[in-house]
Amino acid sequence: MKALVAVKRVVDYNVKVRAKADGSDVELNNVKMAINPFCEIAVEEAVRLKEAGTVEEIVVVSIGEKACQEQIRTALALGADRGIHVEVDGKPEPLEVAKLLKGVVDKEQPNLVILGKQSIDGDNNQTGQMLAALTNMAQGTFASEIKIDGDKMNVTREIDGGMQTISLSLPAIVTTDLRLNEPRYASLPNIMKAKKKPLDVVTPADFGVEIQTHVTQLSVAPPPERAAGIKVEDVAQLVDKLKNEAKVIS
Ligand code: AMP
Repeated sequence: MKALVAVKRVVDYNVKVRAKADGSDVELNNVKMAINPFCEIAVEEAVRLKEAGTVEEIVVVSIGEKACQEQIRTALALGADRGIHVEVDGKPEPLEVAKLLKGVVDKEQPNLVILGKQSIDGDNNQTGQMLAALTNMAQGTFASEIKIDGDKMNVTREIDGGMQTISLSLPAIVTTDLRLNEPRYASLPNIMKAKKKPLDVVTPADFGVEIQTHVTQLSVAPPPERAAGIKVEDVAQLVDKLKNEAKVIS
């Protein structure tokens, strides 16, 4: 069985993100970049399936500028077998990413495609669902457990108020939720070995896809600063302030 895992290069989740001075975008100069956390969970799940003997080959794909080869190398160090970089300028929208991933799916014919549920930069939560629509594959989104048995896969999903388990026919698409697994760290020997693993570079033209823009980002702004709190003397003063200053009770 072949697994295809999509990984996105995003600002490291530990970075306190700042808007550019002109409010046009997020400041990315000298900012640490990393694999999107949900994509790390996707890589980890594929590696665990390989260790369990269910998956034989893990192909990792990233779409973006040349720098995202760093994230492909990290995924290779975590246990993926080979990488595909689809070289695209700028920040492609989810629909364009999904069209390119469809091109990769058509070429690679994976039995399982694993994506993150969401990228932490755009918070889109769209690509997996769009890919499922474009490829006509079954999808299990927000997976917190995956069990594969022959050509069927049970996906347990976190939904409002509980868990839902669905059975999908392979090939299928899964998007990962936070509780699916806890990703490992890459060891130094594996980081060295990853440098020698194959990494193909392709372009949208190889899949007959022309990148389009449908959405324009108008501005980016930080949330308003929270005002400092105050200590009140007693409940009467609290009620008075809630009524007359905050005006949240009447
Ligand atoms: P999104 O729909 O942008 O929230 O992203 C959901 C998931 O789609 C991510 O966790 C990735 O697995 C995949 N994805 C989105 N953008 C890219 C990209 N540029 N390259 C590779 N995978 C991506």
